[in-house]
Amino acid sequence: MSKRKQLIAGNWKMNGSLAANEALVGELLAGVGQPACDVVVCPPGVYLGQLQRLLTGSPIELGAQNVSTHDNGAFTGDVSADMLKDFGVRYAIVGHSERRQHQAESDVHVAIKAKRALAAGITPIVCVGETLREREEGMTDFIVKRQLAAVIHLNGHCVSEIVVAYEPVWAIGTGKTATPEQAQAVHAVLRAQLKAATEHADRVRILYGGSMNAANAAELLAQPDIDGGLIGGAALKSADFLKIVSAAQ
Ligand code: PEP
Repeated sequence: MSKRKQLIAGNWKMNGSLAANEALVGELLAGVGQPACDVVVCPPGVYLGQLQRLLTGSPIELGAQNVSTHDNGAFTGDVSADMLKDFGVRYAIVGHSERRQHQAESDVHVAIKAKRALAAGITPIVCVGETLREREEGMTDFIVKRQLAAVIHLNGHCVSEIVVAYEPVWAIGTGKTATPEQAQAVHAVLRAQLKAATEHADRVRILYGGSMNAANAAELLAQPDIDGGLIGGAALKSADFLKIVSAAQ
């Protein structure tokens, strides 16, 4: 059982509309009560203002799905960490595998994004994870350690302020979940790596992500180094998301 307050983060990806968001948030607020864990939802960037209005004063915090590597200036389409902060954003997902794959984000980009977020007082949720081929080749530990090492290298002792999300790429949106044992084994590797970098590694939350749902959440969240979940598909269904929140502490 995790020693840390768990965090359940919903990644809405590129889904939603003004009307759909209002309905989903309404259902979440009606059912969430006083959660034992921290809860955050990460809508598409254009809806941050709407979500800020809907969530203010509630136990659900606001997160972003991305942040620019730059502070400000001629970077068309980018949104800076300070701009996110203006909208009450508390967390920002960085290095999601979909961005690493489709936007060619490198480990160094991800490390810079984490640094920008931290400088603005936003907690980066740093995603790491191996592809199916990398797992089959026995490369899992090497890949996740390489991805996290870049963030540690650039952020030094501030790494104790990040959240890590272990998301095996083969489990994202596929319905294939890592077993609790598979996930715990990788989380332990990441915890050991953090311990070598900071004396405060025990307070870093390491989330699991990859087809976590209402049925499998409790078993995953019971593992000693699994401190919450990054939830994609199930975050769009209020009943499922709320069941995952209830399974966390
Ligand atoms: C994600 O997008 O971070 C994710 C874990 O998605 P899903 O829960 O749908 O696998």
